[in-house]
Amino acid sequence: MILRSRTLLPLCGPPVENGGIAIEHGRIVAVGPFHEVAAGNAGPVQDLGDAVLMPGLVNAHCHLDYTGMAGMIARPRTFPDWIKSILTLKSGWSDADFEASWHAGARQLLETGTTTVANIEAFPKGLPERRAATPLRVHSFIELTGVRSQREPESLVADAVAALAECGRSRGTVGLSPHAPYSTVPQLLRATARVAREHGWRITTHLAESLAEFEMFMFRRGPMFDWLHGQRPCDDCGRGSPVRHASDHGLLGPDFLAVHANYLWNDDDALLASSGSSVVHCPRSHDYFRHQRFPFSDLAKAGVNLCLGTDSLASARTDGASPPTLSLFEDMAMFASRDATVSPEAILRLATGNGARALGLAGVVGELSPGALADVIALPHSAGLRDVFDGIIHHVGPVQASMIGGEWVRKDGKNTGEAP
Ligand SMILES: [Zn+2]
Repeated sequence: MILRSRTLLPLCGPPVENGGIAIEHGRIVAVGPFHEVAAGNAGPVQDLGDAVLMPGLVNAHCHLDYTGMAGMIARPRTFPDWIKSILTLKSGWSDADFEASWHAGARQLLETGTTTVANIEAFPKGLPERRAATPLRVHSFIELTGVRSQREPESLVADAVAALAECGRSRGTVGLSPHAPYSTVPQLLRATARVAREHGWRITTHLAESLAEFEMFMFRRGPMFDWLHGQRPCDDCGRGSPVRHASDHGLLGPDFLAVHANYLWNDDDALLASSGSSVVHCPRSHDYFRHQRFPFSDLAKAGVNLCLGTDSLASARTDGASPPTLSLFEDMAMFASRDATVSPEAILRLATGNGARALGLAGVVGELSPGALADVIALPHSAGLRDVFDGIIHHVGPVQASMIGGEWVRKDGKNTGEAP
């Protein structure tokens, strides 16, 4: 099959006007000017017309199972207040609620151009069936906490390993997610790191997200410490920053995705960079919690691989009548509105190639190159190449078309290829 569009954005090379890609067996085999691609490859041509054809987006942090909580939690006074609210909300939900919410989230991501997502799975029950029911490439990270249940770290990790053993690896990989420093004990972080690496799995953790978490680990004080010091041993508090804590207990590495990293101490950026860890920024969630300015330039200068995630809709602001939806375009636009020093092209790279690199998929997704998976999206675009990146990061609503592994998953305004 050959796809043609007015504008082609490979992202691993310059934009092409009147471009084309050739696809065979779910992979891209040629990329370039349409006449060259058409001359060198056989197969039917599908003309997407006045559109920009580009790689599908890589959402490096999401909680599909909280999609139905959109707009249900008012912006909190402190971060621990939000944690308490979501715990209350979750306690009133049934398995069916979480399952419906997960599927709704997957549909929203497909509509808005995400083709690969790193998803935190708080409810592993039924996960293999959910993964099989969506064409989305879901990289599932089983969430581990254990503070409230006071269960042994080794048995928690063993349960997660058992849950993942049932998940096929056809479209997305699996991994482990110790939830956050405050909701885990150091032994769990160490056990997770060891077991994940034995299996070749990636690890992701909410890290240095709030001022309350920073104060708890750095200074043994603040609302998070006051809330938790009777619930978990706190001999690991007052010893250094959350990033230092994660480093001391073996999480950092090229296979680690630190989510948020909003509150950093002196050399935390260097610690993340030298370990090869990636950082996932979630702009709308960051805005919802009114965190201090995201240290983008410090992390970028240190050499950290930075990418973007939507986080969950339980921490997205509701403006107007309709609830928020999962869309990385909205997160790109929010990022642009908060940091004018980063170009639209660089912002788009956070949501494509950088996310791919964080998931160990560089050259496989997040770019259009020969050998990459045929995960592509199209957006309406009738202008020239000037301002094309600005137009993309401010795109609103569903994408025109989306393909995963050479199969259309969205075409002519609706999703296709999903189980009913
Ligand atoms: Zn999260």
